[in-house]
Amino acid sequence: MENNSYNPFEAARKQFDKAADLLGLNKAAKDFLRSPVREFHFSIPVRMDDGSKKIFKAFRIHHNDARGPAKGGIRFHPMETVDTVRALSMWMTWKTSVVDIPLGGGKGGVICDPHNLSMFEQEQICRGWVRQIVKNIGPYSDIPAPDVMTSPQHMLWMLDEYETIAGGKFPGTITGKPLGMGGSEGRTEATGYGVIIALREALRELKIKPEITTASIQGFGNVSQYAIELYEKIGGKVICVSSWDNNDKKSYAFRKKEGVNLKELREISDTFGGIDKNKAQDLGYELLDGEKWIEQETDILIPAALENQITKNNIDKVNQRVKIIAEGANGPTSPEADTLLNKKDILIIPDFLANAGGVICSYFEQVQNNMNYYWSKDEVLSKLDMKMTNAYASVSNFSKQNNVNLRDAAYLISVNRVANACQSRGWI
Ligand code: GLU
Repeated sequence: MENNSYNPFEAARKQFDKAADLLGLNKAAKDFLRSPVREFHFSIPVRMDDGSKKIFKAFRIHHNDARGPAKGGIRFHPMETVDTVRALSMWMTWKTSVVDIPLGGGKGGVICDPHNLSMFEQEQICRGWVRQIVKNIGPYSDIPAPDVMTSPQHMLWMLDEYETIAGGKFPGTITGKPLGMGGSEGRTEATGYGVIIALREALRELKIKPEITTASIQGFGNVSQYAIELYEKIGGKVICVSSWDNNDKKSYAFRKKEGVNLKELREISDTFGGIDKNKAQDLGYELLDGEKWIEQETDILIPAALENQITKNNIDKVNQRVKIIAEGANGPTSPEADTLLNKKDILIIPDFLANAGGVICSYFEQVQNNMNYYWSKDEVLSKLDMKMTNAYASVSNFSKQNNVNLRDAAYLISVNRVANACQSRGWI
């Protein structure tokens, strides 16, 4: 993150305020929706492998649960802040709303760096996290899921701790579980695939064949890898991908003009999506500075890493050829950069629409848990496609009818739904 004064919660509030004013929400509604409905801040004591004790700071924040239980991932990140979690919880509320699934918005975080923690230490963080919050999560109140640097294994440790305390089996408490342990087929692929389904619809509207397009992607984690997979399946070519190098504490971009090879990149990357730069060079990739992903001469840019990556400082570097930015990450574009981008002829598919595939599939996972009956991968993915395609179409239609951009359209639809739910419950 290059801009130290950036505060994601301020950015999220700025976006909300704009939508609230356009919708003419009253003061109570604005006050209620500008802040999370409840927050939990706690400390997790962990016995480290060397015998010492270490305390990890952690959060769970429920932004809104008017449309259903709070829903959202848990991030493990050394730079996690309470305001980041607040922003992410608010974005989850709009995400579940814009794709119209019966869930609210929440988010969790632990300030830690899993790169430097053993699996046993990570297991204790997961179990400790659940022990602190056990009364305030559950299938009918708040359902966590994976996010940055958390995996199905982390979710299973959390579920196991919850079920041990609760004294029963409650698989719908957490989503993103491993297959065979209550997880859903397609959940791992869902976020990245969802980004490309939204992109496919955008290309279709613009009458551009995916086969003639190229893309540059920031990040090589779960979202990016599956976005590349589906984008290639629909005929596109990724020519550049960036990834975080934890040894050098900086990111690098890897370019191959004839198209990156997903399989070989996976083989030379770690579990966090860190690509081995020496091996990549041996395979013929050009090694560039991490920032260069944004400068590539491609039709499509997909930021799929962290928030605040497209800013007023690098916006001028976006190539003239770029037609679409599909936001795979949460909050990758700062509000200032967003305003500047809207003056250019670039279609931005906003984060909480573009990356909603993950939470849609989490919802399917819960439905399957409740039935104790599991769908095939094809069934899950075709339902995902239908949900994403419909959500994209309603946002796009709204944007055309009201002459607003896709982000504003998505905000107006989702904030309106949440405000109506709060109002009918008598909260505002
Ligand atoms: N962490 C993902 C997101 O930001 C998925 C959340 C979920 O499945 O609940 O959308």
